[in-house]
Amino acid sequence: MKTIRLSPVVRRITASNSNMFTGPGTNSYLLGDQEISIIDPGPALIDHIDDLISISGSYLKQIIITHTHPDHSPGASILKEKLGVPILGLTTESSLERDEPIDIDQEISHGDFIQTNEYTLEVIHTPGHASNHLCYLLKEENILFTGDHIMQGSTVVIAPPDGNMTEYLHSLNLLREYNISKIAPGHGELIHDPIKIIDATIEHRLGRERKVLEKLNKIGPSTIDELIIEVYDDVSAILHPIAKWSLEAHLIKLNENKKVAKNRQLYSVVE
Ligand SMILES: [Zn+2]
Repeated sequence: MKTIRLSPVVRRITASNSNMFTGPGTNSYLLGDQEISIIDPGPALIDHIDDLISISGSYLKQIIITHTHPDHSPGASILKEKLGVPILGLTTESSLERDEPIDIDQEISHGDFIQTNEYTLEVIHTPGHASNHLCYLLKEENILFTGDHIMQGSTVVIAPPDGNMTEYLHSLNLLREYNISKIAPGHGELIHDPIKIIDATIEHRLGRERKVLEKLNKIGPSTIDELIIEVYDDVSAILHPIAKWSLEAHLIKLNENKKVAKNRQLYSVVE
């Protein structure tokens, strides 16, 4: 087990579920010493859950989840069963349709505060990657826990219909209103220049959107399968099946903005 202390309040343990989607694995964050919260217990990996239990034990007060994707939240149910602590998170209709249901004990939403005697977390609703995605701002240290909203070292997948590109960009812009010193992502290392990364992520998405329009203009009405090769020509073809989700999310946004029309399977630029 490798526990890394990141600040006076925060420790991190990474689950051993490293793959194409999860980078080095899912980060679980432990906050506090006497009233411990775990943000994202990760997948249902017994070794990882045992590590979390051996560190927090009877000091564990609550489990907090960023969203209900399989690499972030299934461990919560096992922890809850073993230690009898509540799970805090957000349920949306669309997340219920898509994800394995999680037995959330306390529904939390945008603007809520989670308070202990040791630290305070502010809840920020950041839909886009997932409709029920929450970020948490540790007020004492201005560290923002971003789950899959912002990752270090890889691009976030936006998979419709629960994923939504318009909301994703809105949620990125929203973060600029907060005082953030560091970002603790669900995957990867601590990010020390939060505003730079937020702005770069927004610019990356807008750049991809411009490329969608540019390529559609060039090749005319096309299907997603035809368009992916053009728009993601800078990304390995192995990743195209995954990139298709984000491409569809871009096309849905452009369609809503009346810049792209959809006729059956064919997308074209609105003149
Ligand atoms: Zn996710």
